[in-house]
Amino acid sequence: MDIFEKYNLKRIINASGTMTALGASRVSKRISDAMAQILPEFIDMKDLQKVACEIISRLTGAEYGCLTASAAAAITIATAACMTGTDFYRISKLPDTQGLKNEVVIQKGHSINFGSSIAQMISISGAKCIEIGEATSCGSYHLIGAINENTAAALFVVSHHTVQSRLIKLKEFIRISKKKGIPVIVDAASEYDLRGFSEAGADIVIYSGHKFLGGPTSGIIAGKKEMVRACYAQERGIGRGMKIGKESIIGIIEALEQWNERDTEAIRASEDKRIQFAYNFLNNIKRLKCEYSPDQTNNPITRLKVVVDPKISPLTAFELSVLLAEGEPSIRVRSHHVDMGYFYLDPCNLIDGEMEIICDRIKTLMENPINKDYKTENLVDIAVNHLKLW
Ligand SMILES: *Cc1c(COP(=O)(O)O)cnc(C)c1O
Repeated sequence: MDIFEKYNLKRIINASGTMTALGASRVSKRISDAMAQILPEFIDMKDLQKVACEIISRLTGAEYGCLTASAAAAITIATAACMTGTDFYRISKLPDTQGLKNEVVIQKGHSINFGSSIAQMISISGAKCIEIGEATSCGSYHLIGAINENTAAALFVVSHHTVQSRLIKLKEFIRISKKKGIPVIVDAASEYDLRGFSEAGADIVIYSGHKFLGGPTSGIIAGKKEMVRACYAQERGIGRGMKIGKESIIGIIEALEQWNERDTEAIRASEDKRIQFAYNFLNNIKRLKCEYSPDQTNNPITRLKVVVDPKISPLTAFELSVLLAEGEPSIRVRSHHVDMGYFYLDPCNLIDGEMEIICDRIKTLMENPINKDYKTENLVDIAVNHLKLW
């Protein structure tokens, strides 16, 4: 049975990186086999979480670990845990935070949108999100001044989405929070570094199981023993709707093992080869200019930045990206910046032959542009409109 045929689904070539909206990861056979094995069986979920705890701890260096539905869920749960601890009465009362410390401090430049707003993920626990500093700047004095007797936690975000300069760095953020006795949660959802944030002293570190790890949709919580226990305990309260299934727990356990055994250099080399091919191919197209672009937060990825010259090109970067997506198969590029006249090709999720298809399609479109009038280049509006389609 071909499910793409049966349900009339569009095939996608994903050069955008790991995107929730595109089904996140290409899960390997090793992982899907493990998931298929557990699906028809009963299992004590706590036993599975214990196995997950052991491997999360082994790979991250954190004392304990547990799993939930997603990194977004983990942000809500970690926030809740910092307010309630393992007190089941308090857990049962959330999002009512009466009598609890309920403020979560975050730098304004970290108050991002990864498809939805991180401030909202904090707020649904009942906590108050306290943004400090300005959009493009935050000093230690902001953090020192904002922490008070109601502060439950401080949240630090590591991501290409954040403002990257003139903010408090992680080390300083942790030092100040520690000195004031405030737990630090680090959102490292799409970071490759599994150990660094725990080692730096974070109390809870959050990863997405379905991004670089290539697992099923899930969120990983790694941290201090009491903190993780308090996170897991939220399943008796607001975490219930954010719980993870048995198949995803087994899937992510397997994904972590797979990650641990991967040949980083060989993977990097094959990704770089794809990017070099596109660099050579696309730079020969007159109105395009390509350059190599190392990852902003130091993940070991080099992407290709494709700049479309708006003065002589028949298509803007925006139009080109839309036409690529509308084709068959649908090609999705990393389009966060198309309104600035460029997009990126991300090699991480491509398989053999796909980069060639992408390059050929770009060439065809640039040489024979279909005349289409796309009115808006505001990506936020496009994303919202897309959801309205049905
Ligand atoms: C992707 C992402 C999230 C959300 O991750 P999910 O597991 O898809 O919920 C949260 N924070 C950051 C920084 C992200 O990049």
